[in-house]
Formats: sequence, structure tokens, C-alpha cells
Amino acid sequence: MTGNLLIQNVRPYAAGQTDILIHDGCITAIGHALSADGIPVLEGAGQLALPGLVEAHTHLDKSLLGLPWYRNEVGPRLIDKIENERAVRKALPIDPARQSHRQAMLAVSHGSTFIRSHVDVDTECGLTGIEGVMATRDALADVVAIDLVAFPQSGLVVRPGTVGLMEQALRLGAETVGGLDPCAIDRDPKGHLDTIFGMADRFGRHVDIHLHEPGEMGLFSMELIVERTRALGMAGRVIVSHAFCLGMPDPSLVDPMIESLASAGIAIMTTAPASRPVPAVKHLIRSGVTVCAGSDGIRDTWGPYGNADMLERAMFVGLRNNLRRDDELAIALDIVTTGGAKALGLQKYGLAPGCGGDVVLVAAETVAEAVAQRPGLRTVVKRGRVVAKNGQIVGTAV
Ligand SMILES: [Zn+2]
Repeated sequence: MTGNLLIQNVRPYAAGQTDILIHDGCITAIGHALSADGIPVLEGAGQLALPGLVEAHTHLDKSLLGLPWYRNEVGPRLIDKIENERAVRKALPIDPARQSHRQAMLAVSHGSTFIRSHVDVDTECGLTGIEGVMATRDALADVVAIDLVAFPQSGLVVRPGTVGLMEQALRLGAETVGGLDPCAIDRDPKGHLDTIFGMADRFGRHVDIHLHEPGEMGLFSMELIVERTRALGMAGRVIVSHAFCLGMPDPSLVDPMIESLASAGIAIMTTAPASRPVPAVKHLIRSGVTVCAGSDGIRDTWGPYGNADMLERAMFVGLRNNLRRDDELAIALDIVTTGGAKALGLQKYGLAPGCGGDVVLVAAETVAEAVAQRPGLRTVVKRGRVVAKNGQIVGTAV
């Protein structure tokens, strides 16, 4: 469902005060004293107007939001977290439909109008996560757009039966093919990457692969990803998530890989964690690589953090990358808006006539203030319909 709306007295990207007119879910005009023609009016009161925020990487199926606190005593290795989650998932009352709904609504209240969720597919949970998040995607179709990545969290080649489940998930309507550490988890980089890229090619889908592998191991996997992206003509349709290997302090190894990513049209997703080496976002963007950001897991068995606020994520990007100047904080905002839209292939994104009517209003003087201070009580418009007002979900939105 789309809406008509006149948003009065707002400042797009902190420019001069103006009005934004939305007809049938699309921005048709931006200008002064636009006529409402009897359509609903939203008074912006001079707030900053931004396009809807893009949550480019999370895991809606397994958040523990709203459940009793989970005491985390999980081991330090990635495989410890994977095995712990599989073991406790049944004991914890994680209903993927209910949990994804909770997290999606929290994200909307903070201004996200698009969410990409990786969703576990393995031989124990089968497609229950996919079905649950799809139920939320359908229930919230007028509130937030959700894109599902079929994600082999427990490995692909090492866990026979997973490939068939991934294909079923794509047939059900998952939009994107996921992957995970081809060397460190699957122990078969060629087998893993040939499988997921082959699947993406057959189904005509994008690829979004978790790559936690450090140092030269990660760079090796990345080389294989670049080769396959080029061979299949998938420029603009591949994201490497995390890419910690690009944070290694050796420019002689990292810089040529960044050039390869740029020329192959591969985007990078970062959560900008304080605890790991991370790709340097300014270097990536300067080199022509599209960068997006995500919350990753929010309050789950992997970790207790997260609040689904993409302006806060932009601040983390700023802190991790030493962004201080106003023009640098604008880069952090770009990463959670236009960078996310480009990486995910969203059409008609932005604040201009012809773009979709996804707008978030923030009580900030400038873009830099919006990122650094993350004012709350935001008002959120999805395709011309007000879905959250002053930080509260509008009752009729769901
Ligand atoms: Zn993830």
C-alpha cells in the first residue's frame, strides 16, 4: 500500500526549509509552500529530513528481544558461537516470526525503511527461520521492506543437505544467496564458492557472504570471490560482509585487493566493531568500493549488544574510522543511506522527485549532529505513509 502525504517545513540534508510532496508512494515535488490538495499533512517543524535508513546486515530470525535475559557464557571462537546457538536454539523460545517482528518494528521506530536479514538455513532448523521472517515480511509489507538472505550459518559443504535447503529457501522467495567463511568453516573454499555462486547464477540472485577470515586466509577467499564475480558478470550484485582481512596492517597486500573489489563491483558491509580489525571506509570509498553497514545480530546468543538504530551504527563507523570533521560524518551517513541502497540494489532511493517516499525526520541541526548525537523521537515515512511518529510506531501501521 502506498500513500499521499505533504511533509511541510523540513530541511533535506540540512538544506533550507522546504516541503516534500509524496503521491502514490513516490516523491513528486520538493519546494516551498506546496499545495496539499486535501491529502494528509505532516508538519516537520524544521527537522532534518533524510531518506529512510538502510539496515544492510542483520539477523532478524534469532534476536532475543523481549525474552528473559540470556546469560552469555559462550566460548571465544566463531565455531563456539555457532555450536552454542544450535544447541540452545530449541530450549530458548525463539519463534523466528515473533522475534523478527519485534526487531523489525524497533528498527522502523529508529528510521530504517529497508532491512536485509540473513536467515539461518541448516539441517536442524531447516526452513523455520526463513518461513518465520517471511511471515514478518508479509505482515509488515506496508511498513518496511525486508530482503532475506538464505544463510548457511553452520556451514554448507561440511553439512550435507544444506545445499538442497538453500535452494528450497530461494524457491520460497529468499532474495539472496548467503555464504560463510569458505576456508575457516567450510574447509573447502572452491567447493563452497562454486556452490553459492552457481546457485546465484541459476536462480538469478545476488550473493552476500560473511567473511570473518583474518589476514591472508581472508584475502585468498576474497580473490576467489572476485574471480567468480567477474566470471559470472555479477558486478553490483555481490557483498562481502565484515571483510576483517581488509583491516590487516599491510598495504602491500590490502591495497591491490581493494582495487580488485572496486573493479569487480563488489561492495563491503561493515559493522565497524570496536574489537576487530576492520576495513578503512574512507580508503574503500576513495577507491570506488561501495560501502554499507549493518547491526549484525541484535541481542542474541552471540552477543548482548545492539538496538537496531542505524544512526548509532553510523556513529560507530565514525568512531572506528576516526571520522571527526562534518564532511567525514556525512560519509558515515552515506554508508547507512545511499551506500546501503547501492550495495543492495534498491531502486529509486533518495530525497528527490521520482524517488520512493521513504523519509525519516530527525531533530538535528546538521547531518553531523544527527550522526554524532543520534536524536531520538524520530518520525518515519514509508512510501508516503507515516509509520512512526516521535519514535512511536503508528498504531495503524501494523
Ligand atoms: Zn551476520
